Order: sequence, then C-alpha cells, then structure tokens
Amino acid sequence: MGPHTIVVLGAGYAGLRCVFTLLHARQQGLLDFPLVLVERHKYHQLVTWLHEVACDAIPAERARIPLTRLISDDQVKLVHAEVTGLDPERRLVITDTEPVPYGRLVVALGSEPAWPPIPGLRDHALTLRWWDHAVQIQAHVCEQFAKAGRTRSRGARRRLARIVIAGGGFTGCQLAGEFAHWVPVLADTHGVPLEDVHVVLVEAEDRLLPTWRRRIGKRAEQVLRRKGVDVRLGTSLEGAGPDGVVIGGEKVESTTLIWTGGIQAPSFLKAAGLPTGPQGRVHTDAFLRASGFHDLYVAGDCALTVDGRGHMLPATAAQALRQGEHVAKVLLAEAAGTPPPPYRARHLAMFVSLGGGDAVGDFFGVPLRGRAAGLIKDGVERWYHNTITSALASRGTEE
Ligand SMILES: Cc1cc2nc3c(=O)[nH]c(=O)nc-3n(C[C@H](O)[C@H](O)[C@H](O)COP(=O)(O)OP(=O)(O)OC[C@H]3O[C@@H](n4cnc5c(N)ncnc54)[C@H](O)[C@@H]3O)c2cc1C
Repeated sequence: MGPHTIVVLGAGYAGLRCVFTLLHARQQGLLDFPLVLVERHKYHQLVTWLHEVACDAIPAERARIPLTRLISDDQVKLVHAEVTGLDPERRLVITDTEPVPYGRLVVALGSEPAWPPIPGLRDHALTLRWWDHAVQIQAHVCEQFAKAGRTRSRGARRRLARIVIAGGGFTGCQLAGEFAHWVPVLADTHGVPLEDVHVVLVEAEDRLLPTWRRRIGKRAEQVLRRKGVDVRLGTSLEGAGPDGVVIGGEKVESTTLIWTGGIQAPSFLKAAGLPTGPQGRVHTDAFLRASGFHDLYVAGDCALTVDGRGHMLPATAAQALRQGEHVAKVLLAEAAGTPPPPYRARHLAMFVSLGGGDAVGDFFGVPLRGRAAGLIKDGVERWYHNTITSALASRGTEE
C-alpha cells in the first residue's frame, strides 16, 4: 500500500458512506488512489434496527449485510481485523493481525457502551450497541420467560419476567417501547400471567431523552407509560447482581438488566494523541480532520462536532452518514488540488421509535409524534436499506 492509500476504519454508517462516495468518484475517473476498509465484523450493521431485533420485531438477519456482498475486492481491499491502536507519526493503524499503513486515514469506528463504575454492572448487565448484543438480548429474555412459565413460585416468576433498562436516552427509550409490545406475546407463549410481567426504564435525570428538548422527552414518557412501561425518573442504578438491581436505594428483583446509559468513542483514539473531549470523541476542524492533524479525518459517533452555538451534535446515524459523505468530498477535493469544502455542522431531523409504529421526533424544529413520526422514521430507514441493497443489485449479487 503506497503513500496515497486511503484507509477507512469502520464499515458502519459513516465509513461505508465515505467508501461508496469515493467509489462513485472513482467510477467517474475522479480518484485513482487505492482504498482500504478495515472492519472487525464481516457485515455492515443496520444499528438503528437493533432494538427491533432484540425484541423479535424484525428478523435478525435483516439488520446486517455481509460486506463481501456490498463491496468487491477489486474495488476496495477489505481487511477483516480489530483496530487496537493508531500510530499517527508512522502513519500506521495497529490491528490484531497486521499493521495497516495509510496515506490518508478516515476514523469511523462509531462508539461503544460507556461502563461507569457501578458495582456489578459489567458482570451482570447486557447492553445494546452491536448486532450480536441484540441477538443475545432476545435469546436471554426468551429463556427467562420460558423459565418463568415453568416455575410455581410467584416471586421467582416476577423476578424472571421483569426487565430493567437503565438509561433513558435514545437506545433505552426505543428498547423500552419495543419491549412493551413484545412482553405480552412472550407472556402468552409461555403462560406467564401479565400481572407478573414488568418493564422498568430508569433514568438518572429528571426526564427521558435528556439531550433533546424537554417537550420531546415528556412525550416519550407519556407514550411509554401509556404502554405500561414503569418509567422512573431522577433514579440512578446503584448496583447490579445476578438476581436484581438497586435503583434509587430500592432493591428490585430481576434477572434481566440492560445497560443503555451512555456511549464513548474507542479509548485508543485518546491514547494515540488525538484531541478528545466529552465521551472521548475527537475534536474536529472545519474539514472534519482531527484538530491538528492534516491526514487524519474523523466521522460519525467518534467525531465531536459542534453547532454554531458550541453545542455538541448528537451521535446519530443521520449525522454519521452526512459526515462520512463530507469526508469523502474533502478527500476528493484534495486529490483534485482544489480547496476542500468546509463542513457545516447542523442539527438534523431525529426520531425515537416507541414500538408498534409509534415515535416521537424533532423534524427540523417541528415536534412530531405518533404514527406520523413513526412513518417518517420507518421511511428513512427503509430508504437507507434500499439504497444499500440497490448497491448489491447493481453488482448483480443479490440473492
Ligand atoms: C439500538 C440503537 C438504535 C439507534 N437508533 C437510531 C435511530 O433511530 N436514528 C439515528 O440516527 N441513530 C440511531 N442510533 C445511533 C446510531 O446507530 C449511531 O449514531 C450510528 O451507528 C453511528 O454511526 P457510525 O458510522 O459512527 O458508527 P457505526 O455505524 O456504529 O459503525 C462503526 C463500525 O466500526 C466497527 N468497529 C468499531 N470498533 C472497531 C474496531 N476496534 N476495529 C474494527 N472495527 C471496529 C464496527 O463494527 C462498525 O461496523 C441508534 C443506536 C442504537 C444502539
């Protein structure tokens, strides 16, 4: 790999969009640099559907697409490896297999769950960030309900049929909404009385979706409560064990705890000397380069971008797609020797699904809720899925 090689880390929303934009330019003769994509999974994950996978609302396979079906080796060299570090001075990506040299680097590794030092949390909580987490949650909850259906002890049954979700942000709310629709089905399947089923959503702040406008969090709370979710605000998770949690000083028996209380960028970005801020996300300049680096770009959840008033933009798929595409445009401008376009950070439409086709959202400043919001969210996600699968069709590989 030569000094011009563009290496993209992460085949998620930002990374894949960046690669597709560069490939499109290459087809038009606008780029002839080699392209490398490094990814630890063999598939692209449709993360915005994972809460639905976790609650059996859609088939699990729908939320992942094998990378070899999206990209062929003659277009992009695919490196299947875990990135473990960066060496910007030597322009090397460190992986669990071999180092990958780069000319230009695009870091699009997303985020990972943040694990605060709550006693027992790491050992006893499930989480939801990747496809295999979703599959694990589904299997675990099915198993708990199957056991609940077999036990004669009401106490044990309630413990097994209680689901505690800790963290009332984007992921926690979406998951609670899906559970509200799934648990009656599970209860029916396994003969568990509905009065023994309990879904609890715990949030330390005094409202759900604390990084959104208060009104939207309030609406999400109303919808979730109406669906039977026990929303506990201003309540922190204080401890976790195999049979229960401590929330707000109260011991609550449960064999299912799902931690959705925060995300962070991979820690090796800071260790590599990149300028990081809140959540370990990397400060970027006007062209989405890591501040102070001329050959290293950051897009998606790893990037810390701020709006005109200095407020950090949320970590969403919509932001990741926009940033991935912009990084590609900057790289193309560089290759052409023209001035790169500056990135204009702005808030985008955002929706939180709450199960059964319901959602709440902020459509460029207009609050939306109910079916209308759900239809828009669903439409955007289907559009993304269709765009990706049409790339398959154009390669003639769709099965
Ligand atoms: C359950 C859930 C629901 C969500 N719903 C929505 C929604 O409705 N709308 C919305 O806008 N956002 C939603 N989000 C947030 C959204 O999914 C993220 O903001 C988005 O995935 C970020 O895109 P990205 O490209 O930065 O990272 P990702 O899409 O997560 O991609 C990162 C890629 O990097 C790879 N990777 C990571 N670390 C390594 C490593 N060390 N080595 C090799 N490869 C690595 C990963 O395997 C992955 O393929 C949701 C998140 C979750 C968890």
